[in-house]
Amino acid sequence: MTFASELEALCDAAVSFHARGYAFGSTGNLSVRDGDTVWITPTGQSLRHARVESLAAIDRHGAPLNANKPSKEYPFHLAAYAATGTRGHAIVHLHSTWSVMLSCLDDLDEAAPMPVFTPYYLMRVAPLAVVPYCRPGSSDLARVIGEAAERSNCLLLRNHGLVAIGRSMNEAVDRAEELEETCKLYFLSRNEKLRLLTAAQREEIEKVFGGG
Ligand SMILES: [Zn+2]
Repeated sequence: MTFASELEALCDAAVSFHARGYAFGSTGNLSVRDGDTVWITPTGQSLRHARVESLAAIDRHGAPLNANKPSKEYPFHLAAYAATGTRGHAIVHLHSTWSVMLSCLDDLDEAAPMPVFTPYYLMRVAPLAVVPYCRPGSSDLARVIGEAAERSNCLLLRNHGLVAIGRSMNEAVDRAEELEETCKLYFLSRNEKLRLLTAAQREEIEKVFGGG
């Protein structure tokens, strides 16, 4: 897989997220990393318009490498890449409804924010790290996201949304979709008595497939 195909995958994912209602207005931003260069969706533009030629290129300190202006949330992308090393080559950030709903729950158990319904949540999402609220675009938000990204590929930003980190854009997209759909399942089933995976079933999945 060439890096050019990762840029195409980023734009395809951005357009698809918008088309399927995962992103709306000008919310959401996606990036991929090639060495010390990060390519990220531009500020103030709907994901439905994502094109390779409109992506902003910045270095690992945020200095511009082309004429396109990066998303205002670029500092946390840089912090997450710095924290993940070779594990992180792509990031998806969405304000998708069901994840935002979970992120706003007053009585959220931050140590175990989501029941384990399926093996796929364990494979793609767990452990889900809960990140305290900080102003979007702030250096505080970048710091707490960097800390959480050291231990998890999926982050729930309090009163904000989700961040999914992958070795490729496809992996980051899979993680983001699994998290959003699991949040939806959780809220749709809150009045149902669902059977969760047992401890032994969870251990078997972790042993065979590893964690998210
Ligand atoms: Zn955001």
